[in-house]
Amino acid sequence: MDKIVSLCRRRGFVFPSSEIYGGLGSTYDYGHYGVLTKNNIRELWFKAMVQEREDIVAIDSAIILHPRVWEASGHVSGFTDPLVDCRTCKLRFREDQLGVSACGRKPSKHPGEFSECDLTEARQFNLMFTTHVGALEDESSLAYLRPETAQGIFVNFKNVLQIARRKPPFGIAQIGKAFRNEITPGNFLFRVREFELMEMEYFVPPDDAARWHEYWIKERYDWHVKYGLRESQLRIREHDASERSHYSSATSDIEYLYPIGWSELEGVANRGDYDLTQHTKSSGTKLEYVSDGGERYVPHVIEPAVSIERIFVAMLVDAYDEEVIAERERTVLRLHPAIAPVKAAILPLIGKNDDMVTRARSLYDELRRRHVVEYDDGGAIGRRYRRQDEIGTPFAFTLDKQTLEDDTVTVRDRDSLAQERLPIAGVADWLDDALERDWRSPKAD
Ligand code: ATP
Repeated sequence: MDKIVSLCRRRGFVFPSSEIYGGLGSTYDYGHYGVLTKNNIRELWFKAMVQEREDIVAIDSAIILHPRVWEASGHVSGFTDPLVDCRTCKLRFREDQLGVSACGRKPSKHPGEFSECDLTEARQFNLMFTTHVGALEDESSLAYLRPETAQGIFVNFKNVLQIARRKPPFGIAQIGKAFRNEITPGNFLFRVREFELMEMEYFVPPDDAARWHEYWIKERYDWHVKYGLRESQLRIREHDASERSHYSSATSDIEYLYPIGWSELEGVANRGDYDLTQHTKSSGTKLEYVSDGGERYVPHVIEPAVSIERIFVAMLVDAYDEEVIAERERTVLRLHPAIAPVKAAILPLIGKNDDMVTRARSLYDELRRRHVVEYDDGGAIGRRYRRQDEIGTPFAFTLDKQTLEDDTVTVRDRDSLAQERLPIAGVADWLDDALERDWRSPKAD
């Protein structure tokens, strides 16, 4: 993980937040390449979950909802983690993670295992951030920053049912920031207090829920594989009853083998009719489906939920590679081309040759209308390639003396390092095609 963190910092993917004030623990800002990568992840999720489907529509609800939403959903009373303090080292731990946490005095041991450890009894700690709406700061103005986007979907169930004229099975998808006051954030972006959730609530007839649960586990697993994660690093793990959230009747995690061990990448929960029933009781508005024939039922809900942050870390970890080529080391991010922040680099071999530079800039202008590409004429060509390898740019187009004679360029493949010559006029279409091709990681599976 240290190598990923330092690459992200060095190449401007991710910076510690508020750094000039000493940083705010486990809070990060995204730089240029980080923003581009996140945009790609977000767009590809949206494409698969909404654009390419007839049965799913989008929504963008508020971050601060009516506080009664969170009472009805069970978050005010039940969205808690068990908190344990150590009176000796003053650190705080999640009781359910003591076995994977390090003792403050003796990091080789777990909290509670060292003779000086003095742990308190566990108490429940609510993970929701509170705030106040309006000028008065009292109980009546108390509000919460959403810890999940799902509730903004449930409270809009009736709107969508009527206005988008849907009937089960159908889904509502949402992408947006979520906030959790995690007791033990850390491991870079894996557990942060502010993250971007991508959630989809899929409403189905109750008898079909188990089948749709299986369907969505497979769909989402396949999406991660399609965008480059190696299957050897992925697995599906079913929660046992003690692990499930307060709303869930069954949950399976898609886990990735992060450097911290197998951990949840994405959760696929069967929320049953819990949320719609709770909001019906609490609001007095019936959240149910009535068929044309008059049949009524409360749909059950299948929910795939994943943060961009956990995908981002998994993809960078999976892509990171070091190798020695002609006695020189290179660091390369073998990202799926659709995920890579920059799709191609345009490199005039001789940065001082006006003719070469003019042609390179004109190719750059043509390509940037279609894709995020970079122009670079500074320094030795080998160093320019390595700069692009490090940020995962899949293709580099190099213009050289021959270009001036026959209007061809070389294209270099980031993974195989193979080079071929192409007519400059065909580069834009070639790149479109290359970015559409299926891609599998060349790293050993
Ligand atoms: P964990 O057990 O790791 O705390 P959870 O089971 O509470 O996670 P869910 O409520 O299922 O998590 O959240 C859905 C998804 O949101 C997770 O699969 C993960 O992708 C993401 N996620 C949850 N908490 C965080 C966080 N603190 N930072 C980044 N992503 C998160």
